[in-house]
Amino acid sequence: MVGRLVLPGEYIGTEEEFIASKGTYEDNGRVYSSNVGNVEVGSDFRVVVRGKKQDVVVQPGDEIIGVVTDINEPLVVIAGEYLIKLGKVYQIRTRALVHASRITGHYLDQCSKVVKARDVVRGKVVSTRGKIDLTLEPPDEGVIFAYCSKCRQPLQRINSGLYCTYCQKNEVRKVSRKYGEISEGVKKK
Ligand SMILES: [Zn+2]
Repeated sequence: MVGRLVLPGEYIGTEEEFIASKGTYEDNGRVYSSNVGNVEVGSDFRVVVRGKKQDVVVQPGDEIIGVVTDINEPLVVIAGEYLIKLGKVYQIRTRALVHASRITGHYLDQCSKVVKARDVVRGKVVSTRGKIDLTLEPPDEGVIFAYCSKCRQPLQRINSGLYCTYCQKNEVRKVSRKYGEISEGVKKK
C-alpha cells in the first residue's frame, strides 16, 4: 500500500489501520484517497496522499485515464485526466484516441459495441506522433467505470461482464481488470 499510486475515491484501508490525513477522507470506517498521488504512511499511522505537480511529457508505454467524450467511428475520443508513468500518477489535460483495431485484439466493426460515451477508460500509450494513440487491449486496460445506458446507475462487474442491478440487465464493454477500483472521483466529472 505505501507508495502505491491512487486516484480520487480509491480505497486505501480501514480506520483500524490508518488515520485519514491530508489528501484522504474517511467514510463508514474506510479511508479513501481524495487526491491524485502516492500513499505515504507515517509512524503514527497517519496516511497522506501527495500529488506530483511538475509538468510531464506523455510517452509510449505510459498509461492515461480519462473519460470517453465522443465515439467517432472508428475512433474513441478520450479526455485524458491522469497520466501514469513509472509508477507515479500526474494530473494532465489532454486528448487521446483509440482506434477500433486496438480495443479487443479482434476485428471490431464498431467501437460503440464495447465502449460508450461517459465511460472511464484506462489505456496504454502506443504513439505520440502528432496525436496520442492508446490501446485498450492489455488486461489492465479498458473500461474502469461505467454507467448503465438506461438508468445511469453505476454498473457492477460480474465475471468478465458488467451488470445493472436495477435494470437486471447485462452490458457489454471491453472491461479492464481494474474495473471498479475507483469508487468516486473521475467518474463524477
Ligand atoms: Zn440500469
